[in-house]
Amino acid sequence: MEAKIRSLRDEIDALNLELLEKLSKRAELAEAIGELQTQTGSSHYDPVREQEMLDALTAANRGPFDDATVKSLFKQVFQASMHLEQEQDKKSYLTSRRSRSRDTIVEIGDLRVGSGEPPVLIAGPCAIESREQVEATAARLASRGVTLFRGGAFKPRTDPYSFQGLGVDGLRLGREAADAHGLKFVAEIMDARDLPAFEEHADVLQIGARNMHNFTLLRAIGRSRKPVLLKRGLAATIQEWVMAAEYLLHEGNPNVILCERGIRTYEPTTRNTLDVSAVALAKLETHLPVVVDVTHSGGRRDLLVPLTKAGLAVGADGIMVEVHPNPAVALSDQKQQLDFDDFDAYLEATGYAKKLSPERHEVYGF
Ligand code: PEP
Ligand code: MN
Repeated sequence: MEAKIRSLRDEIDALNLELLEKLSKRAELAEAIGELQTQTGSSHYDPVREQEMLDALTAANRGPFDDATVKSLFKQVFQASMHLEQEQDKKSYLTSRRSRSRDTIVEIGDLRVGSGEPPVLIAGPCAIESREQVEATAARLASRGVTLFRGGAFKPRTDPYSFQGLGVDGLRLGREAADAHGLKFVAEIMDARDLPAFEEHADVLQIGARNMHNFTLLRAIGRSRKPVLLKRGLAATIQEWVMAAEYLLHEGNPNVILCERGIRTYEPTTRNTLDVSAVALAKLETHLPVVVDVTHSGGRRDLLVPLTKAGLAVGADGIMVEVHPNPAVALSDQKQQLDFDDFDAYLEATGYAKKLSPERHEVYGF
């Protein structure tokens, strides 16, 4: 009896190997089809084809498994092949960790942004409003150790009658103020036709949440080599956000920093909902630096400190925050910009004061 069982088991072992060989061969064929589908942009999942295969299998089924069992066994096989094809796709994405094992460090002059570097702080007004405003803010921020100065010259406003920004004049004012205080200048570009002016005046090109889906703009900026700060769209999935970055990399610009700025949810007490899991996931799945814009996330001054801590705790490489000499009279985002004294308190409460001082170079130690 023992010997009989052993011999039957030997037969099963041999069949297992045969099945494995056949499954591997099948997987290779599925991979080849997957590659062709990727090239033509068609979906890996074809329900009609899957149904045809199941019909053929159940028609040929001679038992002892019933049709339902045969179907469920083969569905497992189909799913495994599909998974393989999806993994293959990820390998070919330039943003994916599968295509680049090292983290991208974006260099803005001598400043480095990314994993292993101390978290950066990008600060400045929502909009550049006047020479006095931008000069006073740049002076104050530089005196506190900030190196990345932000300010919008082209503002994407919901209401067409509200302040739209000073345009190229604003870019010039931002550049002057940044230069006067040794700062790098980050500004939002809304139209590819303005690229020459931005190449001249800005150090980092910001793509705003409302333009994250503007593929023409993404392609144009992808052909520049300027560092880009790519905001996540108001209602963009993580995949859509990463694919927007893929456009930039695909066109040849590797200097991309992702920026989570809150997404629109049903919650009315905050302007947007900061998606901390998106920050963690973007760090896990891509090799790009990720920063968190705490001002637009919550839209509330009283949330800036906790949201900064949350962002850094999940692995952000930096924080963006808006600062204005007198937020009460700001031409945009009055409610959430910090005045200079509040900014000092913010630096203390978040630990950035220590990081930005010449003696200390860490925020939280992780
Ligand atoms: C901004 O940073 O000035 C801005 C308009 O942000 P967002 O695109 O995230 O709304
Ligand atoms: Mn703003």
